[in-house]
Amino acid sequence: MTHQPWFDPTQCLIGGTWVSASSGETLPLINPSDGAEICRIARGAEPDVDAAVTAARAALDGDWGRMTALQRGRILTRLGQLVLDRAEDLAALEALDVGKPLTQARADAVALARYCEFYGGAADKVMGETIPYLDGYTVYTLREPHGVTGHIVPWNYPMQIIGRSVGAALAMGNACVLKPAEEACLTALAFAHLAVEAGLPAGALNVVPGLGAEAGAALSGHPGVDHISFTGSVATGALVQQAAGRNVVPVTLELGGKSPQLVFDDADLDAALPFLVNAGIQNAGQTCSASSRILVQRGVYERVKSRMAKAYEELSVGPAMQDLRVGPLISARQKQIVSGFLDKGADLTIAGQGKIVEDAPEGGAYVPPTLFADVAPDHVLARDEIFGPVQVLIPFDTEEQALTIANSTDYGLVASVWTRDGARQMRLARRLRSGQVFVNNYGAGGGVELPFGGVGKSGHGREKGFEALYGFSQLKTVAAYHG
Ligand code: NAD
Repeated sequence: MTHQPWFDPTQCLIGGTWVSASSGETLPLINPSDGAEICRIARGAEPDVDAAVTAARAALDGDWGRMTALQRGRILTRLGQLVLDRAEDLAALEALDVGKPLTQARADAVALARYCEFYGGAADKVMGETIPYLDGYTVYTLREPHGVTGHIVPWNYPMQIIGRSVGAALAMGNACVLKPAEEACLTALAFAHLAVEAGLPAGALNVVPGLGAEAGAALSGHPGVDHISFTGSVATGALVQQAAGRNVVPVTLELGGKSPQLVFDDADLDAALPFLVNAGIQNAGQTCSASSRILVQRGVYERVKSRMAKAYEELSVGPAMQDLRVGPLISARQKQIVSGFLDKGADLTIAGQGKIVEDAPEGGAYVPPTLFADVAPDHVLARDEIFGPVQVLIPFDTEEQALTIANSTDYGLVASVWTRDGARQMRLARRLRSGQVFVNNYGAGGGVELPFGGVGKSGHGREKGFEALYGFSQLKTVAAYHG
């Protein structure tokens, strides 16, 4: 393979020192494009997590804890520049590790830099308030870090998710323990190398790769952790919340979705079309905010169906380094999950399907992107999160019906409305049960500045934007009586 890590990937970062897992054990890291082993990574477990939490606590009691917000911000800003300087290297690692087409991996590297810049600039702009109160009192609030924050990150967007959670947590002065996914952790390690280079004090960021049931479970249940940020599946999120609950520790959960786009008869279809398709196939559909349900009003249904079908027929799927529109899924296991869903759609009509390139390596986790048409809202493919390049088209007649269908799943992460009717835009923006609503676009270009998170089984708490800084801090009220 041409792009090997530029650092030793078998190590954990604990207290500013790169060390092997205390057991000495390693795990294989697999390239999803061909199924071959890229390298080995540390199999961190409970003792390593314990050492990382201890190191984080020491950082809070030491140099890191004493830094001003301005100093923290400068380090993050410097880190953002280092990420930009190494963006090509980071993108190559992410493409290798996640199977992401290079163009998407490059965008993720730039987003990581942007998070560092945003939170670097924001670090010294989080303020408390003074509260008018009884005669003789001065009352004010302080925003303080939680302390040690745990970050359990999935494999689909490692760089972006690290940027949004670790970036905001560091800006507020927390000391972080990061547990990347066992399927993809190279950019987490690369990021940590750059953080050390940027001057982050020892222990402010610790990285412990390892299995979810070992390192992840140890982190979420550790009594020395003060806050947990988790992104991943509903089932694991519930386990993390239970483990944190035993220590009465707050959690932020971001658990994916079944996000709809609502296309009305009066929509600008030329503008909508690229978003309708891309939101389903980006990162091979392995995106928490993927749009897997396309609800289309009857008057334009056939036109949308045929245009989306054509777009699907033109999709090519292949190795990350070929930089096609769609790469492989993360793993053979994920391919099995997504193939299972395709089987469950055997009773449905396939409107359009992409093609796997002929020279795609045998061992890669490839599935053809698939668009199903005329799907009933209660079909399993219209209700369950698939996490693969699969979309369903659902026809509707009225606005009320569209709203009912849109709000009918357990999830509520993002939604979009395509219509020229301003009043309808406003009505639906209010009534859609969703953490973000987009009007005549989807995703708003990623929006580091835009608070993000879900309702229902999509999770709770908000990351991104200034809101994340509030989430990664706690409010202290000071009431001084001076007569
Ligand atoms: P997962 O939720 O099990 O893994 C996500 C992270 O949690 C990883 O770092 C993993 O090591 C860790 N983890 C696993 N078990 C843990 C435990 N018991 N305690 C603490 N941490 C633990 O997800 P997965 O198994 O990789 O993927 C399965 C499904 O999850 C996918 O098909 C998809 O539907 C969903 N998913 C969603 C997102 C998202 O962005 N919302 C990301 C990845 C996967």
